[in-house]
Amino acid sequence: MDRLVDAAFAHASRHAEGAVADYIPALASADPALFGLSVVGVDGEAHEAGDTGSRFSIQSISKAFVYALLCDAVGHEEALAVVGVNNTGLAFNSVVAIELNDGHPMNPMVNAGALATTALLPASDAADRWHLIQRGLSLFAGRDLALDEEVYRSEAATNQRNGAIAQLMASYGRITEDPAEVVDVYTRQCSLLVDAHDLAVMGATLADGGVNPVRGVRVVAADVARDTLAVMAASGLYENSGEWLFEVGLPGKSGVSGGLLTVAPGKAGIAAYAPRLDGVGNSVRGQIATAYLSRVLGLNVFVSTAYIPTA
Ligand code: GLN
Repeated sequence: MDRLVDAAFAHASRHAEGAVADYIPALASADPALFGLSVVGVDGEAHEAGDTGSRFSIQSISKAFVYALLCDAVGHEEALAVVGVNNTGLAFNSVVAIELNDGHPMNPMVNAGALATTALLPASDAADRWHLIQRGLSLFAGRDLALDEEVYRSEAATNQRNGAIAQLMASYGRITEDPAEVVDVYTRQCSLLVDAHDLAVMGATLADGGVNPVRGVRVVAADVARDTLAVMAASGLYENSGEWLFEVGLPGKSGVSGGLLTVAPGKAGIAAYAPRLDGVGNSVRGQIATAYLSRVLGLNVFVSTAYIPTA
């Protein structure tokens, strides 16, 4: 495993295309050369290469875990009805997608659905909502995750678009909490600091039926882990989710700071951090390294062999 992770890392290191996200000012200063790759198995063992201790804001990858917390709290049917599970085919911050679907957020991996997910999480007030999210994501990671104050303040000062999305959702009655408070909690969840190792442990927890394999602690129910992976498979890499599934055959979730988490169900979490992104916002090196590992380890969930009766 260590040799394969090193080989995946070396293979992806040769790629320097893509650009660091800069629409959130604090993200623009990320070092584009950073690259970490971590695989954590359901046995809790880690296999890693590169900058796996470099911390970055989790951004959109938080969406998968907050959705898992919501599913755990409200159940399969309600999550399906109120947030949805279908890909929009449009960018993660699309307003058009909301209008086209009568205000339905469509899925929890785009900003509209993520804001609805955060708003729907049962909590007594915004402080309680933030506390539940920070605690829940920390359980997935197996350590207390802290807020990156600079990223939080930078995004809070510039995310008028997310404010507009939340207002629009509220106008359709899809968000009943105060939209500004929802955006604030969502911005905080996106600003939680992780490294590639943390992300791989979080993914291994989904791979392990909701039990953090390093800590031996159940975080969510097994059917919640299953449902979360299904949603990641459909929409985790935004409008390129179909291509990702076609090439890699595994559920994944990317974030604009350059994180990419992939889950091999029953086997492992695979996390990459490499801030250069392609045109839709997915880590270039992260995709290349993960595709390599999926191929050499035979992780594609769609692989099957013909059953040929012998008698
Ligand atoms: N916080 C970012 C936003 O809402 C997250 C987006 C992402 O990682 N794709 O714009």
